[in-house]
Amino acid sequence: MNSPTQLARDIDGKAIAAQVLSEVAADVRELALQQVTPTLAVLLVGEDPASQVYVRNKILRAKEAGIRSLEQCLPATTSQAQLLAVIAELNANPEVNGILVQLPVPAHIDEGAVIQAIDPAKDIDGFHRQNVGGLVLGQDVLTPCTPSGCMRLLHDTCGDLSGKHAVVIGRSNIVGKPMATLLLQANCSVTVVHSRSIDAAALCRLADIVVAAVGRPQMIDASWLKPGAVVIDVGINRIDTEQGSRLVGDVDYASARTVASAITPVPGGVGPMTIAFLLKNTVTATRRQLLRAAELATTHTSPQEA
Ligand code: NAD
Repeated sequence: MNSPTQLARDIDGKAIAAQVLSEVAADVRELALQQVTPTLAVLLVGEDPASQVYVRNKILRAKEAGIRSLEQCLPATTSQAQLLAVIAELNANPEVNGILVQLPVPAHIDEGAVIQAIDPAKDIDGFHRQNVGGLVLGQDVLTPCTPSGCMRLLHDTCGDLSGKHAVVIGRSNIVGKPMATLLLQANCSVTVVHSRSIDAAALCRLADIVVAAVGRPQMIDASWLKPGAVVIDVGINRIDTEQGSRLVGDVDYASARTVASAITPVPGGVGPMTIAFLLKNTVTATRRQLLRAAELATTHTSPQEA
């Protein structure tokens, strides 16, 4: 256990996200020299209040970075066919560089069908099977925003991750699995712990790096951690308190910081990184689409024209 004066240091996601956003804004200024403004289409189906807040935040941050956003709010009664038709239009629109469908969609719509309908080149969430497969193969594809943000936090905190043992708690398609893949690419030894693992805590105690993405408030405490471990808490859970409610992570922050060397707080850790990487992916997608268009133009130029 750390001495009372040696609590783990906070990994400041707000500050690191601000750095990423300023890099994005610089990229946007560079694209403006070519008369290009990266454009992000955001689709929201239904009136879920949490989703409305997420969408508002994403649009606000996009605007601050100089990215144009096109927001479409569709009623909860929108059919799957109608939603797919809107996506097809956005896919075909050369002025749209990134498409984000805020999840979850209403229960009558097949989320998988929606994700696979997005042009992989505009899939800034990195959820399309072409991008998922590319990530596993180590190709340079659009990668999911939350795990990408966690990697940036880890690189900023630890530098080179080679040889470190990382334990990822959770195996969802949007966080756990891509996180494990990115850590493997960074030359970590990776263990994925999930709901069927036997003695998850014992496996976790072997880790130099712990990434918690479970969705269970404060499940991971000091007894799960090796002294000096670096802890990335992806969880966002609202719990009731005497004053009303507050947000907590999957990690018991007060307990974990007595053993860990560095830890992300909730809020203010991973959350801001997710939006920053969404915008970074929008700029990356824009650049790649421009390159592709230039390649196609060259291919289609006849020898006489050339
Ligand atoms: P999910 O429900 O899809 O997956 C949870 C995973 O946890 C599953 O793979 C399951 O096997 C595992 N799990 C459940 N109980 C377990 C246990 N007792 N021991 C070990 N593993 C267990 O969740 P998700 O979408 O990956 O999200 C996880 C958390 O991260 C949620 O709190 C979510 O709100 C949060 N989240 C935050 C951000 C962000 O930007 N900070 C982004 C995405 C998700």
